[in-house]
Amino acid sequence: MAESSSTPTEIAPPGVNINVPHSARIYDYWLGGKDNFAVDRAVGEAIIKAIPGMRFMATENRRFVHRIARDLVLKEGIRQFVDVGTGIPTRPNLHEIAQLHEPSTRVVYVDNDPIVLVHARALMISNPLGRSEYIAADLRRPRSILTDPALMDTLDLTKPVGLSLIAILMLIADADDPWSLVAELRDALPSGSCLAITHPTADFDPAAVAAAVKSATGAGMTLVARTREAVARFFGDWEFLEPGLTPVSAWRPDIRVDDPKVAYYWAGVARKP
Ligand code: SAH
Repeated sequence: MAESSSTPTEIAPPGVNINVPHSARIYDYWLGGKDNFAVDRAVGEAIIKAIPGMRFMATENRRFVHRIARDLVLKEGIRQFVDVGTGIPTRPNLHEIAQLHEPSTRVVYVDNDPIVLVHARALMISNPLGRSEYIAADLRRPRSILTDPALMDTLDLTKPVGLSLIAILMLIADADDPWSLVAELRDALPSGSCLAITHPTADFDPAAVAAAVKSATGAGMTLVARTREAVARFFGDWEFLEPGLTPVSAWRPDIRVDDPKVAYYWAGVARKP
């Protein structure tokens, strides 16, 4: 790390590049974690400068994960999940909530970042009646996820799956056609499966989000805010569960937020007919 632009005291795990900011680590920084480096904190702070509520938004995004894990188990009968773009573990993780309601639930976590791999063991502490696994794979290669031996060993893809793509699709540019990548995953799942997505948007505050995106892209990241219509297309012909595609804080809130548009994410869950 001789050419590191970061402080010399920072030591990165093997394969982790601390010269380029990374989404998992920036997100960890916002959530108060310790697995982030100077480059990540710099972009994280620049984004907070543009969007002062960013830390709250990251927390609201996590709360949505907790609500969908609960509702997909309790109301939709989902017993197995694939969570793509897991991030650095922050408790409670999806499987912990799901297994709280149904201990036999199985979860496969997927991420392509080496720092998440470093922490994968924490994601695999499962209720003994269920199972949780981690696979290092890339959303840009859906086949590699669907055919991964650990995934195939853990899940039964002939039975409904809860697929979660939480705050990940904004990291894939339009040019890489994230819609067809998601469609490939949807097509591989049986009827009764559910897809949950959160996605940052500029719809509520275009100037602030444009400034945030500029700080991220200026530092070498891909970050795309999308409109409600563009996010809706990720669900294809699947049927939205109530209340549809809403601001993240308005999706079945446990604690009512006066103005749900204070968190700039679209969020929704849809079920395959
Ligand atoms: N879903 C978590 C973390 C979001 S941060 C949450 O909302 O709490 C986005 C995560 O997606 C990061 O961990 C990043 O490494 C991962 N990611 C980004 N691009 C990816 C890709 N192409 N394939 C798999 N994971 C990816």
